[in-house]
Amino acid sequence: MDPAKRASVGARSDVREDARRDASSDSQLEDQVKDWLRYGEDLGLGPYYRDRAPLQVIAEATTAPLEPRDVATPSNISAAAPVAASATAPAVMAAVAPGRAPAAPINVAPSSASQKAATMAAMKTPPVAPSSTILPAAAAPSLFEAIDRVAGDSLPRIREDIGDCTRCKLHKGRTNIVFGVGNPKAELVFVGEGPGHDEDLKGEPFVGRAGKLLTQMIEAMGLRREDVYIANVVKCRPPENRLPEKDEISTCLPFLMRQLDVIKPKVICCLGSCSSQTLLQTTQGISKFRGEWFDFRGAKLIATYHPAYLLRNPPAKSEVWKDLQKVMAVLGLQPKKR
Ligand code: SF4
Repeated sequence: MDPAKRASVGARSDVREDARRDASSDSQLEDQVKDWLRYGEDLGLGPYYRDRAPLQVIAEATTAPLEPRDVATPSNISAAAPVAASATAPAVMAAVAPGRAPAAPINVAPSSASQKAATMAAMKTPPVAPSSTILPAAAAPSLFEAIDRVAGDSLPRIREDIGDCTRCKLHKGRTNIVFGVGNPKAELVFVGEGPGHDEDLKGEPFVGRAGKLLTQMIEAMGLRREDVYIANVVKCRPPENRLPEKDEISTCLPFLMRQLDVIKPKVICCLGSCSSQTLLQTTQGISKFRGEWFDFRGAKLIATYHPAYLLRNPPAKSEVWKDLQKVMAVLGLQPKKR
């Protein structure tokens, strides 16, 4: 065979070999994607692909502080999944879970050999556990939504159910259970963290110095203290006025949830980090989301600084007043005339 003919045959052979390798690579990639998506299904992450669009991934957010908008409302907190798939994902998803193709395309196909290689490498790495900082919009009910509502519930019945409670260790140091006080049909409920010394002695929330300031704040909004309802996350005083601990909060919280369900306020105003972080299920500092509105079990929720903080830091009062003015706008209140 002359050299030119041999070169031509060799070139055709190379092309066929490249095509065979590409086909093999594509097939391997598709298999990897299928495996990866099955893995996600096994982890229960299928709804994430199917029901959430657009997807939000804050890959670098694990070390960076989140902006207020990244704070999840209680109704949209859920686990999330890492996202890394080729454009073949919808078709593969349909094959793995018929009728469940993603509502929106997930990512894009790699456009170069190096990107394809990177994608292949990513496919070989099992998906990592969801980061708590990834907070996509979710259709699933939140933890709080899942707490059963009690049919025919009432504030007296909740108090009766609490009884002489010893459900958590806070009962050991209390003088009185501080249930809550105010209008049982209040449009506005204030939620603090827990009773202090004065509250423990009197059995009523917010009656110390911070309580007097809260009363002034309420009156500045054009309301009387008896127009609103005031409660705490925990109903017994933590020793040395420390913050309530997680187990204490989780034990006592269902009572507060029931109170809120019975009262059905239009607005819940969380006072301080503890109550706002508890109800919003976040660990972010309150300064990140203070003054923002959130949906919470049919009410609007806003967080502001605790009156005790204002006693230590009076300049922050102007920030709190801005937050309270937002509440007043929602409730159609006029500030108290001096
Ligand atoms: Fe019971 Fe709540 Fe008091 Fe704990 S804080 S003992 S759960 S009432």
